Amino acid sequence: MTKYITTPIYYVNDIPHIGHAYTTILCDMFKKYQILKGNECILLTGTDEHGQKIENSAKLKNIDIKAYADEISSTFRSLWDSFDIAYDYYVRTTDDYHSVGVKRAFEIMFEKGDIYKGYYEGNYCISCETFFTKRQLVDELHCPDCGKRTSPLKEESYFFRLSKYEDRLLEWYKENPNVILPLHKKNEVIKFIENGLSDLSITRSTFKWGIEIPSCVNDEKHIIYVWLDALLSYITPLGFGNDKPNRMEIFSDATHFVGKDILRFHAIYWPVFLMSLELPLPKHIFVHGWWIRDGIKMSKSIGNVINPKDVAEAYGTDIMRYFLIREVPFGQDGDFNQKALIERSNAELSDSLGNLLNRLLGMSEKYFNLKIKSSNFSYLQNEINEVEKIIDSLDFYMENMTPNRYLEELWKIFNIANISITKYAPWEMMKHNKSDEVASLLVFIANILAKGALMLYPIIPNASSKLMNALGITKDDFTNLITKNNLLTSFALEKIPPLFPKIESPKMQDNVLKNLPTNTQNITKDLKEEVNIKQFEKLDIRVGRVIEAKNVENSTKLLVLKIDFGNLGVRQIVSGIAKFYKIELLENTLVCAIINLKPSKILGVLSEGMILSASSEDGKLTLISPKDEAEVGSKVS
Ligand SMILES: [Zn+2]
Repeated sequence: MTKYITTPIYYVNDIPHIGHAYTTILCDMFKKYQILKGNECILLTGTDEHGQKIENSAKLKNIDIKAYADEISSTFRSLWDSFDIAYDYYVRTTDDYHSVGVKRAFEIMFEKGDIYKGYYEGNYCISCETFFTKRQLVDELHCPDCGKRTSPLKEESYFFRLSKYEDRLLEWYKENPNVILPLHKKNEVIKFIENGLSDLSITRSTFKWGIEIPSCVNDEKHIIYVWLDALLSYITPLGFGNDKPNRMEIFSDATHFVGKDILRFHAIYWPVFLMSLELPLPKHIFVHGWWIRDGIKMSKSIGNVINPKDVAEAYGTDIMRYFLIREVPFGQDGDFNQKALIERSNAELSDSLGNLLNRLLGMSEKYFNLKIKSSNFSYLQNEINEVEKIIDSLDFYMENMTPNRYLEELWKIFNIANISITKYAPWEMMKHNKSDEVASLLVFIANILAKGALMLYPIIPNASSKLMNALGITKDDFTNLITKNNLLTSFALEKIPPLFPKIESPKMQDNVLKNLPTNTQNITKDLKEEVNIKQFEKLDIRVGRVIEAKNVENSTKLLVLKIDFGNLGVRQIVSGIAKFYKIELLENTLVCAIINLKPSKILGVLSEGMILSASSEDGKLTLISPKDEAEVGSKVS
């Protein structure tokens, strides 16, 4: 049986960040694990290159759209190559075979009556390339997925009959409870479906950068919706609808890895498209969380986005892979923090694992010239049983996508080995002529490292290979040492340099942190003294509407505003915003003001409160203005 796994098809709107690397590494890990177990496993990755956002980005940079897509697609590809990601297919949605397959899929759906022509009226998020109904929007304006402002749009569009498949979709989730992992993510999807599925607009006519709808429909001004296009890239490389070598049979055991932001597309649209095409549905959809940095969301404007290449150059791919996989329970958000990375590397990789190998090599060399042999482990039977139990439990954690648990459990066998050395003190045994017992202990330790090396191959392939070389084993020993859980009775060891030298200080200070204008320390320094909620509640902050604004005599900075606070009446407040606002434009603006501030006179003018505004570093003031829906007089808290 061949397993088929996919990363998302990465959108080429920007260069790869640590989140892309995380998904891709997880997929690579999963594939390597399957291959160790003797399963065939095919990994697909690639780039999603159509859509308005990409058209706009290329226009902004004043370059040809395809050239722009080529450049970013190759950045992704060469990054995966430099990380030794074992992908089998690299699909690009601008590839010819792909557009042939997408058109064929459209034809099939159209002929089946699943596609019809209509009008779309709704709010469109350019960022997500998605329409939303008013009900789905946040505050009736903002995108529920990315939070950006949407704009109203009416256009002619072809629709896919999503509603027709609602029941079948719910039925499928009922019959296959483990399709989406972690499980709580499935509940979100089911709730969304139960709220009712609207038919999905699957064409666009307001821009050009996409796959044209097939000639059977005869309607040139439409191109195919980027998500229909992108999702189909999971099957077009397998020969769906085109003349590529047909490998569609592997799609019957497909696992998609996705970030939580694109779950809906994979858990609702994709299975329904597959139903329409009468193809098998995915076996699993594994949903992971996001990465933040030092507690702060990564964003280009803050300049704290982590480039995975920098991490790999600073620490090596093994440590990067280990940290990403070990640090976060799968499905939750992770914090990329160098201190945590260094601590894990030093404590777990250097001390527990690397040091264990050094102790084994040291003693084996000293006592047995690196050739150790024993078939009698009787006094170690308790330890052997424990190790056996742990090894047997690991497959479950990997197959159910809890790789952090897998590593946590695996580390217990290294602890057992380290504790056994302390407990049995081979140097004491040697003094009492018990060299047979010492040999048994060392062979047992070597077996633990051998099992560990095999189980670590999917996560830290380079170090694992070095470890296997030192122990004189290969990946072919998996069946004997893991599946059958046997022990080897002799090892010819080889000395190697330390696997994970201790990391003394952060290595990314220079090349990455320099982009960070305000690191966390500065942010903390900037903060005012802590207050409790009671102290905050003492402030009476209200929404008011400016009904009159005038200059204060003899001042270029100050305005005096008359502000209506509804039931609380009209108050006069002096504010230093004269340089930043035109008097005429302030009228009718909603503002927030503290109204229980002790009244005072400023340049002889009475002020009965303080208007809230944001001040930038260069002193520019921007009024905090609530949306029009806010009622005058209402409390701000
Ligand atoms: Zn959006």
